[in-house]
Amino acid sequence: MRTESESYIRSERPAPGIHRIVLARAEKRNAQNPTLLYQLDAALTFAATDQEVKVVVLAADGPDFSSGHDLSAPFAMPCAPVATLEGAFDAPAAEGHFAFECEAFLGLCRRWRELPKPTIAQVQGRVIAGGLMLVWPMDLVVAATDATFADPVAAFGTNGAEYFAHAYEIGARRAKEILFTGDAIGAEEARAIGMVNQVVEPDRLERATLELAIRIAERPAFGLRLAKASVNRSQDAQGLQQALDTAFALHNLGHANNLARFGALIDPSGVDLVRARTSRRRSPSSTDDLG
Ligand code: ZN
Repeated sequence: MRTESESYIRSERPAPGIHRIVLARAEKRNAQNPTLLYQLDAALTFAATDQEVKVVVLAADGPDFSSGHDLSAPFAMPCAPVATLEGAFDAPAAEGHFAFECEAFLGLCRRWRELPKPTIAQVQGRVIAGGLMLVWPMDLVVAATDATFADPVAAFGTNGAEYFAHAYEIGARRAKEILFTGDAIGAEEARAIGMVNQVVEPDRLERATLELAIRIAERPAFGLRLAKASVNRSQDAQGLQQALDTAFALHNLGHANNLARFGALIDPSGVDLVRARTSRRRSPSSTDDLG
């Protein structure tokens, strides 16, 4: 069993110019505690500032890319904030948690989306709720045929993952359907609707992602940076940033309502429902995930 001081992240250089960051918490299906998120941020920062790196790949150990927030871990900052100037993390009721989510969830996602180099998510297995925060801020997504994407946390009395880009990523009607039902989108549908770039057999996932990264890395870094920034600003012009802010405020209204009604950030009645519906390959003794 690892302690909080141990690493949940591994970094690799599989080819010249390619920096691969791997979520290395397979025994918890890469559930995200705050330490993992800030170790990931440090790894991405290193890749961003290393001039030898042209393209960043974000991969994950084990059968599932990420099962969401680790609900067994305290929502506490493991370090000084890096994405915002938030500071009221220890304030009571909703105030402290709102500051935490501004920094550690929405703030980090926005920071990663603006990393000035191409990023590719290499995704297998399940991506649930907070897991989407590690996929959608990346530029490209290569998925294995067994990849699924779900955000079932309306059952918890809130709207969805804190980086609420759902309507932009999968379209308004499909977004509403998966949020209302908790159902997952499969890899092939995700490709068809533009959320995923490539779908490959699981045994080709790492190779196919690396081949794509190598092709991109043949181009000049500055051209890639300008192309990325131009597409991001196009999405922003379509209202993405305002939509993220509004949905994030509603998300935290959900948390505040839960705190007032149940004394907890999530509606406890939703926990069994969500776990029953996302239990594929799940160990009965597991106690983490699904935020
Ligand atoms: Zn939240």
